[in-house]
Amino acid sequence: MIFYKTDEEIELMRLSNLLVSQTHAHVAAMIRPGITGAELDQEAETFIRDHGAVPAFKGYNGFPATLCISINEQVVHGIPSRQEFKEGDVISLDCGVQHNDFFGDSAFTYAIGDPGEEVMRLLRVTNTSLYVGIEQAVAGNRLGDIGFAIQEYVERQHGFGVVRELVGHGIGRHLHEEPEVPNYGKRGRGIMLKEGLVIAIEPMVNRGKKAVKQAADGWTVISRDGTTSAHFEHSIAIRKGKADILSDHSIIETVVQKNPNLMEIGILSEAFSA
Ligand code: MG
Ligand code: MG
Repeated sequence: MIFYKTDEEIELMRLSNLLVSQTHAHVAAMIRPGITGAELDQEAETFIRDHGAVPAFKGYNGFPATLCISINEQVVHGIPSRQEFKEGDVISLDCGVQHNDFFGDSAFTYAIGDPGEEVMRLLRVTNTSLYVGIEQAVAGNRLGDIGFAIQEYVERQHGFGVVRELVGHGIGRHLHEEPEVPNYGKRGRGIMLKEGLVIAIEPMVNRGKKAVKQAADGWTVISRDGTTSAHFEHSIAIRKGKADILSDHSIIETVVQKNPNLMEIGILSEAFSA
């Protein structure tokens, strides 16, 4: 069953998602070679609780941490560890909170130092594909239009692999609601998008082939061919004409610009919100 949100509920979800984005910005400022995922995770949990909210992932199906931290060939659901980050690492951070009964969920991928031009191209293409999908997320379109646009952009135009096993989702009073939002699909298929639907769109893209496998820890998903993977996610509300993006990557992009340890992947949030 799909839960459509009122305007008041969407404003509450904007606050939850803003806190998610602020948490990203807070920890992104700390990323450097030598810091560990466990340190970032502790910072994120404290920041979220200090703002009167609850980390959404901690305890979800037994997940042990506030952030999912997925490094290099890890796609998603990586468990923060005491392993130190190093030059050239690609770090995907996924963060969720529950605040005023509503969830927020957003992901961003960071490059420490220079991981090389092909990996930077992967990050730019994955980030752009999120907005290519969001452009299709308007009332009157079909769910399949979103996935089709992302897949077309990533695979046909840029030759990277869209992960199939993990998908976006509805979000609201529950972290994961219907419908599932695949990052692949057929134009004109699936449910009609209507105002009040709030979904998380989250392309996961491998530099090589699309296949993934589960790591031995039971959580981490990794690319089967060992190539680097990237992940960007916004929670958005469906409106007529243009989606309303509830999370805010502009505050994260500003921190990335200022942190000398991080490579810039471009300021996309403004170009696509204009
Ligand atoms: Mg997420
Ligand atoms: Mg999500």
